[in-house]
Amino acid sequence: MATRSVIIIGAGLAGLAAGCYCQMNGYPTRIFEHHHKPGGVATTWKRKGYTIDGGIHFLMGHKPGQSIHELYRELGIHEAIRVLDMTVYGRYLDEASGRSVEITKDLDRLAAELKAFSPSDARAINDLMAGARAMQGSDMGKMGLAKPPELLGRLDGLKQMWAMRRVFKYFTGKYAEPVAEYTRGLQHPFLRQVIENLFLPEVPVWFILMLLGMLAEGQIGLLADGALNFARTIENRYKQLGGQVTYKATVEEILVEDDRAVGVRLADGSEYRGDIVVSAADGYSTIFKMLGGRYADEKIKSRYANWKLFCPLMIVSYGVARKFPGEPPLTTIMLKHPFNVNNRPVNGILVRIFNYTPEFSPPGKTVVQVEFEVEWDYWNNLQKEDRARYDADKERIATEILERLEAHYPGISSQVEVTDVATPYTTWRYTRNYRGAWEGWLPTPEAITTMIERALPGIQNFYMAGQWVMPGGGVVPCLYSGRHVAEILCSRDKKRFATVLP
Ligand SMILES: Cc1cc2nc3c(=O)[nH]c(=O)nc-3n(C[C@H](O)[C@H](O)[C@H](O)COP(=O)(O)OP(=O)(O)OC[C@H]3O[C@@H](n4cnc5c(N)ncnc54)[C@H](O)[C@@H]3O)c2cc1C
Repeated sequence: MATRSVIIIGAGLAGLAAGCYCQMNGYPTRIFEHHHKPGGVATTWKRKGYTIDGGIHFLMGHKPGQSIHELYRELGIHEAIRVLDMTVYGRYLDEASGRSVEITKDLDRLAAELKAFSPSDARAINDLMAGARAMQGSDMGKMGLAKPPELLGRLDGLKQMWAMRRVFKYFTGKYAEPVAEYTRGLQHPFLRQVIENLFLPEVPVWFILMLLGMLAEGQIGLLADGALNFARTIENRYKQLGGQVTYKATVEEILVEDDRAVGVRLADGSEYRGDIVVSAADGYSTIFKMLGGRYADEKIKSRYANWKLFCPLMIVSYGVARKFPGEPPLTTIMLKHPFNVNNRPVNGILVRIFNYTPEFSPPGKTVVQVEFEVEWDYWNNLQKEDRARYDADKERIATEILERLEAHYPGISSQVEVTDVATPYTTWRYTRNYRGAWEGWLPTPEAITTMIERALPGIQNFYMAGQWVMPGGGVVPCLYSGRHVAEILCSRDKKRFATVLP
C-alpha cells in the first residue's frame, strides 16, 4: 500500500504525540495548530520577566518501572526534561480551625498525622492507606491505557485483569464510588475536605488511592522547566522525526467526500488534503462544528449533553519580589469566609508557589498563583458583551485574592510586581476547549471507565486523540491516545507498529 499522509488538528500533547508515532511508522504528517505555540493547555506565558505556568501541576510515572516511562523515552521527554521528585504532594489548610496537614510520600507519617487530628476516623484512614500501599507498583499503562478500544481483543482483557490482580478489589464496591460518597462516612469535616480535594470529589476512590500510591513510590514529580518546555520537547522530537507544524492555523472544517475524511479547511479559507485526518483538538468543536454533527450517534450526543465537564478555572498569578523558602508547591486553603464570583461561592483556593526552580522568576523573586473554579457562561458572556466590566472584574478578583493571601504570607501585597489573570474565556481563546473545560470531562466513575472509540460512526479515515477521547484527560492518557492513533493506522494497514528511540 502506498504511504498514506496524515493531517493532525492540534499541537497539544496528544496531537504532538500522534505526530511522533505516525512519523515513526512511516506516515508523513502535518499538524495545524490554532495557537502560535505548541502545548494546548500545557502552557506558560511571559509577564515582565516572570514565567506564568498555567498548566501541568505534576507529572506521573517519570521514573523507570511504569510503561509510560517507555513513552517518555520514545518522545524524547526522559532525556530532555528535568523532573523534581515530590516528597510533599500538597498542604491543606483550614482557615476556620487553623489546622493544616501535609500530604507526604511517607504514608506512615501521613496516617499518623491524619489520625492525630481525627482519631475517630482511624479505621477509614487505615483503609485508605492500605489501598494506597496496594496501589504502589501498579502500572497505569497496563491497566487500561495501553490500547485503544478498537484494538482490544479478548486476551487483552485477561492481561489487564492479571495486571490488576493485586489491586482488583480497589476497583470495586465502595472504592469505585465517587470520593464524595466515601467521605460521607468520615467523622471529621476537615479530613473529609482534605480527602475530597486530593483531586476532585467526583473521582472514584481508586483514583486517589493510585495517586497516593504513586506519590509514595516517588512516581510523581514537578516539571522544573514548566509545562511549555515539556510540550516543546515533544515538538522538537516531532520535527526531528520529519513532522511539520503550522501555527496560527485554525481548522474550521474537516473536508469529507463520500463519508471519507480527505482534508481540512482553515479559517483563512485555504484547504489541505490528506489521506487521513486526526483531530487532537477539542471534542465538541471537532464533532459538532468541524464535522457539522453528521457523524455523532445518540451515544456521542448524550455524552456531550450529559457528562459533567471540568469546571473552568480562574488563574490569578502574581510576580512577587521575594522568596518563599520551605513552602510546598501546592497549598489548598479552605476559606473561613468564602467569596462569591457571580453568585458562585468560592470555598477554597489552590495556591501554587513556584519556588522549586529559578526558571519562573528573576533571582530572589517568585511566582505565586491561585486557582479556583468559576462559571463558564458568566466570563464568556462578559468578555463578549462588556469588555470594560470583564477587565474590571478581573482586577477586582485579583485584589480580593491578594487580600486573602496576605493572611498567610504577610507582606505579600506590597511585594507584588506583576499581576496576571486568566479566565475561562482565556482557556477557550487559546485552546478552544469546550466551555473552558481544561481537562475535558470530569473523571467520574462512569466517565473514567468508559473506553471511547477513536473513530466516529459512519466516517472513514478519521480518528480522534486527546482528552476528549480519554475522559479525565491528563498528560499520560493524552500521550497514550496519540500513540493509539498510529497503532490503529498500522493495524488497519497490516503493518507492524514500530517505535524508535531518539
Ligand atoms: C491548570 C492545569 C493543570 C493540569 N495539571 C495536570 C497534572 O498535574 N497532571 C496531568 O497529568 N495533567 C494535568 N493537566 C491536564 C493535561 O495537561 C491535559 O489533559 C493535556 O495536556 C491535554 O492535551 P490535549 O492535547 O488532549 O488537549 P489540548 O491541550 O487542549 O490541545 C488541543 C490543541 O488543539 C488546538 N486546537 C483546538 N481547536 C483547533 C482548531 N480548530 N484548529 C487547530 N487547532 C486547534 C488547541 O489550540 C490546542 O493546542 C492540567 C491541565 C491544566 C490546564
